[in-house]
Amino acid sequence: MGKEQTIVAKFGGSSLADAGQFRKVKEILCQNPARRYVVPSAPGKRSRDDVKVTDLLYTCYEKASRGEEYRTVLKKIQSRYQEIIDELKLSVSLDDEFEMMEQAFLNRAGEKYAASRGEYLNGILLADFLGYEFVDSAEVVRFDRNGNFESERTNFFLSDRLINIERAVIPGFYGADDAGNIHTFSRGGSDVTGALVARAVCADLYENWTDVSGFLLTDPSIVDHPKKIDTMTYSELRELSYRGATVLHEEAVFPVRREGISIHIRNTNRPTEKGTLICSSIAPEDEVPITGIAGKQNFVAISIAKNRMNAQVGFCKRLLEAFEENHIAFEHMPSGIDTICVILPRDVYLEKKEAVMASLERLLAPDKISVDEDMALVTVVGKGMRSVSGIAARFFTALGNASVNIKMIDMGSNEINCTVGVSNKDFETAIRALYYALAA
Ligand code: ASP
Repeated sequence: MGKEQTIVAKFGGSSLADAGQFRKVKEILCQNPARRYVVPSAPGKRSRDDVKVTDLLYTCYEKASRGEEYRTVLKKIQSRYQEIIDELKLSVSLDDEFEMMEQAFLNRAGEKYAASRGEYLNGILLADFLGYEFVDSAEVVRFDRNGNFESERTNFFLSDRLINIERAVIPGFYGADDAGNIHTFSRGGSDVTGALVARAVCADLYENWTDVSGFLLTDPSIVDHPKKIDTMTYSELRELSYRGATVLHEEAVFPVRREGISIHIRNTNRPTEKGTLICSSIAPEDEVPITGIAGKQNFVAISIAKNRMNAQVGFCKRLLEAFEENHIAFEHMPSGIDTICVILPRDVYLEKKEAVMASLERLLAPDKISVDEDMALVTVVGKGMRSVSGIAARFFTALGNASVNIKMIDMGSNEINCTVGVSNKDFETAIRALYYALAA
């Protein structure tokens, strides 16, 4: 007999927004007994203009810690959970938890503590509903006291704890330092917790259940009904998330990638749909030239010109030093013989403009510095681009035909992406043109 399968299933906020969604989750879990470890988010939006419990918690904490009236919001939060308890006829009560929480808010326990209660309380309810053991993430997900996540210690604590538990609910998004202070990942961080649990239990699969049936080839608010992506590699996922595709938290890939655990994005509301599978490699016959198209607006390009720059030893080192000493991480650095260009987010540039310019002048003594403050970056990602000829021709022809002026081109050295810089006003036109030329 083969080894028993283990699946870690993370459910996002909308998948657990009310009692009806809890029932769907239970049904999904019952369909496959391998789904042994469950990572919940806090209750999300039940409708378009609803408010996520996490957002209510931030608001409530802010009001309480400022001495303003906070009880109305607190009641709203409490009733979100109480409705679930009542409708599902759960035996647990959260009354004591809410009392403790209120005290902690008044004692200024911190906004991270406040935000984490969304997942914590939802985890208690879900564990009760499923009959799974509840494991408080504060005991197993470790941060240092400055709030930096500690991956190896977390892996140790998590695996040590879960090895003897057949089925558990581990709330997403937060952990604690050794003194017990709560820390959280950035928003959407339950995806990260799911990946950590998958690594710790050496899962066969990490399922990420959400309210969409996987990744779309591009942003549906720009292109009508874009195609869905069936499979992609971790690297392609990294490229697309970095450039703005927002189905999964950017950091969620690392813990599972190192263990070769695939991620399967699924839709809680349409569990029969195939979703998107993210894995380390894709069989050549399943490779498509273009996996996805994504982009972001509001970058600046700083171009530095200096005669014979190419012959100066250490020029690039000093250039990077100018950004390093201002604590700036840049996006791209296309170069020519006598010019080099650094692209960075516009808000970062505006905040540190004077200091950066001073550093560049001092370290490089350039002939000229010019700044283009109007740049959007559009990236086409696809491992298959490497092996199919003519893609670049179609890429540039599409932009030309759509009258999009290209300000910058950067072909990633891993050859799975090609990025162009265009004017912010051409951003959507460029994405549409590329989609219809390369992917439709
Ligand atoms: N509840 C948190 C948020 O709204 C974390 C998560 O859902 O992953 O960001």
